[in-house]
Amino acid sequence: MSLKYITPAERFKKYLPKDYVELVDYGPFGKTQDEAGPGNMGQFKELMEEHPMCSGCWMAYYIRLIFASLPQPEETVTLGTAGCGRLAISQAAVPFIYGNYGDQNAMASGLTRAFRLRFPDKHKDVITIAGDGGTMDIGFSMTMHSWIRGEKFTTIMLDNEVYGNTGGQESGMSPKGAILKMAPLGKKGEKMPATDLAKAAGCVYTVRMSPTNIKKAAKIIRRAIFVAREVGPTFIHAYTSCNIEYSIPTEDVFADAKEKEKTRFQFEEYMTDEAKAVIERVEAEEKAAKRAKKAEVV
Ligand code: SF4
Repeated sequence: MSLKYITPAERFKKYLPKDYVELVDYGPFGKTQDEAGPGNMGQFKELMEEHPMCSGCWMAYYIRLIFASLPQPEETVTLGTAGCGRLAISQAAVPFIYGNYGDQNAMASGLTRAFRLRFPDKHKDVITIAGDGGTMDIGFSMTMHSWIRGEKFTTIMLDNEVYGNTGGQESGMSPKGAILKMAPLGKKGEKMPATDLAKAAGCVYTVRMSPTNIKKAAKIIRRAIFVAREVGPTFIHAYTSCNIEYSIPTEDVFADAKEKEKTRFQFEEYMTDEAKAVIERVEAEEKAAKRAKKAEVV
């Protein structure tokens, strides 16, 4: 897809779905992050406006944030798998490929390679967005292989530390001792060290975080995407609590995310020298463009 293709011809606008036309006119396609980004969410036509996830679900909040942070939504494809998250991801106005049982990273590997052959002069961003079960348990081998092979796309793990979608089984990412509906005696094993595994497998940019700060979370998402375009696999491990399975009252969801920031989800950002060079260049370019725009207005 390209902005050129999605802009409806004036004469045909009236025949197209209202939602689609509004997205082109008032949505983020072709706009900068200042015009339509996380900083002014709610003031423009968003890529994801409705979803069937539980009220107060922290995962749903973060998914919305991912879509508002995309550098080029009109050139992005997301891939996911079974789990709560795909209920929202599949409702966004960005192409979504639904894999079965954790194969999202294997599909993303093929898709990224195909895009590079088909569109050699374009950046087509590929992002897998899946839960802890899809990324680290069921999809583990495919996640690892995509990293070991140096596939250039971003993996985002929505870690709610449980299988929320299927009723509360423990996952490899559940913390040791967690008592869950289907683990009534508490989990015996340790939480898997996801970012360590990612680094060992060759990810060039990894972040572990609890996304409590919108601007910071958006910056990380964009960094991961920019680096994946040029250097290699990138990985974001984000805490996205399941308020249902962990019995977190909706009004306490944010406080819980803040709390987790102090322990299991302490902020950690790792980048190789090559990744750092890309980040510095892209962010300097963005700043220069902002300054130029301001000067134009004055
Ligand atoms: S079950 Fe948990 S993760 Fe799934 S939508 Fe509900 S709160 Fe969110």
